[in-house]
Amino acid sequence: AVRFEDVRKSYGATPVLRGVGLEVAGGTTTCVIGPSGSGKSTLLRCANLLEVPDSGRVLIGGEAITAPGADVDRIRTRVGMVFQRFHLFPHHTVLDNVTLALRQVLGTPREKAVEIARSRLAEVGLTGVEDRRPHQLSGGQQQRVAIARSLAMDPEVMLFDEATSALDPELVKGVLAVMRDLAGRGMTMLVVTHEMRFAREVAHQVAFLDGGRLLETAPPEQFFDAPRSERLRGFLDQVL
Ligand code: ATP
Ligand code: MG
Repeated sequence: AVRFEDVRKSYGATPVLRGVGLEVAGGTTTCVIGPSGSGKSTLLRCANLLEVPDSGRVLIGGEAITAPGADVDRIRTRVGMVFQRFHLFPHHTVLDNVTLALRQVLGTPREKAVEIARSRLAEVGLTGVEDRRPHQLSGGQQQRVAIARSLAMDPEVMLFDEATSALDPELVKGVLAVMRDLAGRGMTMLVVTHEMRFAREVAHQVAFLDGGRLLETAPPEQFFDAPRSERLRGFLDQVL
């Protein structure tokens, strides 16, 4: 589970998160939608300490990762993150991209790391590309390598920040299918996305972030079909 308690974050004098409370129950998927600049990425980054909240708490599996002295490296192994740009290591092969953190952070022996990597790559529909470099793959394949790399660490939680936004339209489907499959297998996921259909069909709850506040959090049917706030109604009119 992931829990945000009254999380606040400013950059200089500019408040970006103005007291966010959100609970992602274990084994469920929450999608976060909202306008550009509303704080979606910042919220996600607070869940693996790429950003540290100014106040409030973030709990992963009941443990406050925002507590003083928290072990950032260990927390990041428990919380996988996939970005819009894939952030693969360009000079390493696919297999090395997926095994590197396993070997360097967790100290997994090479043979075991390779075994894990191959099975994770198979899970995201990639076999036979282990020896290629990222530039020899499509954007969709690269993003699936990035997902496999995160999954290799056996995380409790997966964060996705607009994971399909940089992809050509015909490649989006394959990545969404992998995410859908992961959600279906009970991964705990927090997903920032513009893919409203994915949010409606896959998410257990959808949250609307606007100006650093969560204006509405609801199951998808209610969220999309009976939005309560004027702001959300206006936003949905624009994007649907
Ligand atoms: P988008 O949909 O465009 O990705 P977002 O909802 O993810 O937007 P954030 O990236 O969280 O929004 O940014 C929220 C606000 O904080 C924006 O106004 C942004 O300019 C500002 N911001 C983000 N990161 C920083 C930073 N490191 N330093 C200063 N301001 C920042
Ligand atoms: Mg963003």
